[in-house]
Amino acid sequence: MAFAVLTTVSCGATEPAASPASSAEPTSAPPATSPPAQGEPEATPSPTAPPEFSAKVSAVSRDRLPYSWRPGCPVHYRDLRLVRLSYWGFDDAPHTGELVVRKTVTDDITTVFRKLYDWRWPIQQMKLVDAFKADDYASIDANNTSAFNCRNATGSSNWSNHAYGAAIDINPRQNPYVTASGSTAHKNAEKFTKRPMKGKGVINPGDKVVKAFAAVGWEWGGYWSGTKDLQHFSKGGG
Ligand SMILES: [Zn+2]
Repeated sequence: MAFAVLTTVSCGATEPAASPASSAEPTSAPPATSPPAQGEPEATPSPTAPPEFSAKVSAVSRDRLPYSWRPGCPVHYRDLRLVRLSYWGFDDAPHTGELVVRKTVTDDITTVFRKLYDWRWPIQQMKLVDAFKADDYASIDANNTSAFNCRNATGSSNWSNHAYGAAIDINPRQNPYVTASGSTAHKNAEKFTKRPMKGKGVINPGDKVVKAFAAVGWEWGGYWSGTKDLQHFSKGGG
């Protein structure tokens, strides 16, 4: 958030001739240093620019995780963190969501979601899976983006990386878990099983979303062979 001060200063109003043309092109400049600028009078159609990205990391109390954590989970809830952060919605408006992740990966998550927000890359909703009583199926069916959940990996008796707070599922309707034969357990996701494909919130191989996660060491389940988990990113893979 210290960046905000710097970027406001750096995008000064001394180059009026260049900015209208350049504001429309998809620039590859680092997003953290090139927000939709408040200093450019014609850059934003609305009178009020959206708020800057923000992320707040805090301890997570036991009562925030009534369903997703229990004694015996591989990570204690004291080693988890609540991250409240900005995301860009399917309604083309800014929102604040909540994620729970392991304390060692909060910087990774903040780095990636800052990029997604600055790109206006849309996410439908972001609530703790406890809002769905830690029912993974229900959370996915509601197209909810979430991270920590003390559960086994799908179709396995081993802990999922979600149980370690080191995995996240993003827009699970548009990015389903697809079996090797091409099917999904979610009716509302059936039209999203193919890749590549266009669509709001869809993740494709080689996407900037995939690259943003890769830059902090998180691998995409869309690169698995056989079964593909298109919504899933995890630290170190798996
Ligand atoms: Zn997942």
